[in-house]
Amino acid sequence: MEGSSRGSRAAVALQNYKLGKNIGVGSFGRVKLAEHLLTGHKVAIKTQSRHTIKSKGMEEKVIREIKILRLLRHPHIVRMYEAIETHSHIYIVTEHVASGELYDYIVERRRLQEDEARRFFQQIISGVEYCHRNMVVHRDLKPENLLLDSKHNIKISDFGLSNVMRDGYFLKTSCGSPNYAAPEIISEKLYAGPEVDVWSCGVILYALLCGTLPFDDANTPKLYQKIKRGLYTFPSHLSALPEDLIRKMLVVDPMKRITIGQIREHEWFKIRLPRYLAVPPPHTSQQTKKIDEVILLQVTKMGFNRDQLIESLHNRIQNEATISYYLLFDNRFHDTTAGYLGGGFQETMVQECLHTSSSDIAIPNRLPAFPNTEKKWALGFESRAHPREIMTEVLKALRDLNVSWKNIGNYNIKCLYLPGRANDQGIVETEGAGTTAVLKFELQLYKSLEEKYLLDLMRVSGPQLQFLDLCADLLVQLRVLGNSN
Ligand code: ADP
Ligand code: MG
Repeated sequence: MEGSSRGSRAAVALQNYKLGKNIGVGSFGRVKLAEHLLTGHKVAIKTQSRHTIKSKGMEEKVIREIKILRLLRHPHIVRMYEAIETHSHIYIVTEHVASGELYDYIVERRRLQEDEARRFFQQIISGVEYCHRNMVVHRDLKPENLLLDSKHNIKISDFGLSNVMRDGYFLKTSCGSPNYAAPEIISEKLYAGPEVDVWSCGVILYALLCGTLPFDDANTPKLYQKIKRGLYTFPSHLSALPEDLIRKMLVVDPMKRITIGQIREHEWFKIRLPRYLAVPPPHTSQQTKKIDEVILLQVTKMGFNRDQLIESLHNRIQNEATISYYLLFDNRFHDTTAGYLGGGFQETMVQECLHTSSSDIAIPNRLPAFPNTEKKWALGFESRAHPREIMTEVLKALRDLNVSWKNIGNYNIKCLYLPGRANDQGIVETEGAGTTAVLKFELQLYKSLEEKYLLDLMRVSGPQLQFLDLCADLLVQLRVLGNSN
């Protein structure tokens, strides 16, 4: 923190945290241990310099990571509590994962016993399945991005290369580390998404059980050849069942590769599968519905208004009260996994239907076709529901999120959002204090292929992170439509 103005800005932005020692070095800055002052719980804060991010042309990576982590809540995915933007830095506050990278764990032990490897693998697959259900492909799964908590549970991290899946659209960017990358990525073919994570998980399972990589070569072109041909061998110590599973995961043709659903059915996967991982993970939308009364009371005792907190939780608004709520909620049991078993996963089984009265806005009849070019920061959402129904849900969601709008064309609306929670630098401030940032964005419903409709959101002005936050909230509410496919 050089310079007094920068220092004080950071101090304001991070006023709710007591910063501790460095615990890691990321691509754009340090990762520090910190204490959340209101609850006393430990967190990790990744400090990223905007200047470094820009100079490396990596804004997309960072924004993606924030956008994606904000959506996800799963016992085996690093939990993000908040992102704080200042003029010079972006701070990402996540749960603190105490026991380092899975990579170092394997290296120290050379290779793992079958039981331990399976336990890790089951946790990884469950986290990956959850991502896929929420339309997120990780695309950079490798033991360096799998962290271990103090109970040696997996926490999937580093979502910088992830992309939100778009049904019918292929992800065109090549990325990831070559040793773990699927052949279709190496070949720069258009690829759909989830299958690339299955391949990487196959390589990870091989690495866990064998202590070596299935595809390796100091010469990159040779390595690529091996991957494209699917050329690898098994050590003799490997038993038949895990070998069979790896063989099915490392199939070069992505269409013939085993799916996550089929992995769940595999004999080896089912051995000693913990109960909390035996049910497929829920959607993020189902997770915001139920509120824990005990935690609610605890947060109210800290001086926050109960009704406001409930409303903020329902609307997934990031403020001091909700951050405290989630920190207390996630730490309510000493054993996090047991906590999710008892609470998080069960609660999400509670289904709620979103019913709505007819909208009070006139919706025109003609829909434009979706342009062929991919928009960079558009947030895609596809549904087979009737366009009128989609718009009704959209308007209802906007109303719930306190967004005002006006009609500007065929299924095209202009939106205005006054959050009242951040100043013009995007610094999150205490309730009721400071100036407010105005966020303007446009929303357009397109007709895409096969009677499907695509909702597109474009930021016009205002803080990027706030826009992404709002997109995430909207997306969560609109899952109902996506499910009706
Ligand atoms: P980048 O994506 O910029 O490379 P990472 O997210 O990989 O940054 O973080 C860099 C390192 O910091 C990680 O390899 C890990 O050792 C440590 N680290 C990151 N996040 C956490 C966390 N939540 N808890 C503990 N250590 C972390
Ligand atoms: Mg990393």
